[in-house]
Amino acid sequence: MKQILWFRRDLRITDSAILHFAKDEVLPIFIFDKNILNLLSNDDKRVTFIYKSVLKLKHELKEIGLDLAIFYSTPKEVFSKLKIEGFENILCSVDFDEYAKKRDEEISGIMPMQTFTDSFITHPNDCLKADKTPYKVFTPYYNNLEFIWNSYRLEEFKTNENLKLISFDYEFIPTLNEMGFELQKLPDFLQKSADKLLEEFGQKIDNYKIDRDFFDKNATSNLAVYLRFGLISPRQAFNKIKELKARNENKEFFIRELFWREFYNYILFHFPKSEFQNLNKIKVNWNEDESVFQKWCEGNTGVPIIDASMRYFNQTGTMHNRLRMIVSSYLTKNLLVDWKKGERYFASKLLDYEASSNVGSWQWAASTGADSVPYFRIFNPYLQSAKFDKEAIFIKSVIPELKDVPAKQIHSENGVQSNIFLDYPTQIVSIEFSRKRAIEEFKRANNEKY
Ligand SMILES: Cc1cc2nc3c(=O)[nH]c(=O)nc-3n(C[C@H](O)[C@H](O)[C@H](O)COP(=O)(O)OP(=O)(O)OC[C@H]3O[C@@H](n4cnc5c(N)ncnc54)[C@H](O)[C@@H]3O)c2cc1C
Repeated sequence: MKQILWFRRDLRITDSAILHFAKDEVLPIFIFDKNILNLLSNDDKRVTFIYKSVLKLKHELKEIGLDLAIFYSTPKEVFSKLKIEGFENILCSVDFDEYAKKRDEEISGIMPMQTFTDSFITHPNDCLKADKTPYKVFTPYYNNLEFIWNSYRLEEFKTNENLKLISFDYEFIPTLNEMGFELQKLPDFLQKSADKLLEEFGQKIDNYKIDRDFFDKNATSNLAVYLRFGLISPRQAFNKIKELKARNENKEFFIRELFWREFYNYILFHFPKSEFQNLNKIKVNWNEDESVFQKWCEGNTGVPIIDASMRYFNQTGTMHNRLRMIVSSYLTKNLLVDWKKGERYFASKLLDYEASSNVGSWQWAASTGADSVPYFRIFNPYLQSAKFDKEAIFIKSVIPELKDVPAKQIHSENGVQSNIFLDYPTQIVSIEFSRKRAIEEFKRANNEKY
């Protein structure tokens, strides 16, 4: 039996369903997909990360007697050519976003595909309400899965050691430049392995629940990018956390976060239209003024915490979870800009960008999604920065012109603008006016819900 092992977002050799279920002769492959790459800018940091991860995967596969054939093409072209070589089927992990589903539908018309739930712990069909409909609220969904998250260990897949490598051209490795990309500098944490990050996280997990919202503390695991591209499986992350000698409440809190990732994947699977539409079907009259959105993107809103977060994001491709909550609330509520624009902007740069988590979180912030924040509970960005960046350490590190401004001034509305020696952007809207405007608009939209 000849099989193709198609690595996509599962770039690892341990706990790999496809390496476990493969039977005999195999051709492991990775495709640098032109359909995706052609839409990205040449300084996209994710391509550098994926490129390095693919080379590492090739090396690791070689160490276990296999190899990785690398293509720079479209999946359709690759499989149309491989079709004539007599392969039985393709083994790969499932992927549920719009492009992935269309791609897989097309490819399964060329060659049979066998898919596995390998990027997530659960398959969305495994957890339904008694009436067989999907949950829309996290807590009952999570409670229903207690038998999983309460278990001590999740079974990991062992690699089939009897696999034989099919002879093929394994020499071709396109360079980043040949694919139209420049090598990018990645944040320091991405120079480390997932194991190293987990080891470091083990030293600080006992403060996770308390410290995770303080963005200058580096109190979280930084694992999202690794989970996104499958350098570690969520089962492995789960098992390693359970093994730690740490307080249960912190371990449980972390596992719960992992299940938010499951939940958003679940929502996207059961409500695929939510990738592009308000899940709760309300029709909000969004602010269409493009210049307002541009100021948010550039970090020129006149609100220091928003500007620091967005400028940092533009430089690094990363943003702390609390900051994501603050900037998404500010965009969708204070500026009343459609969450889809913010979602697309994050998607264009976020290193850990994952359609399900990104869409789910944006809809959460905009009060249009599953289990969202109530529309009348709107973050005040100044109170948020005073609470979570008391000495303005993060803000000053990103906006050096504010380095001599007292933290108290930075955390008060128009405080920075009142300093005549600074040339800082003026606020787009006042916080109180825009808060009231958002509540009125969302109230109307919810009352007129169809
Ligand atoms: C507007 C917005 C957009 C977001 N977009 C993404 C995205 O595209 N990709 C992404 O992985 N996360 C996204 N998140 C969730 C969260 O911000 C990141 O998962 C987290 O910041 C990653 O850092 P960490 O790995 O150190 O997290 P930790 O606190 O260490 O959490 C561990 C893991 O749990 C998962 N997780 C944690 N919080 C959430 C959450 N709220 N929703 C879903 N999964 C979670 C992640 O896989 C994370 O790696 C978004 C949040 C917001 C508010």
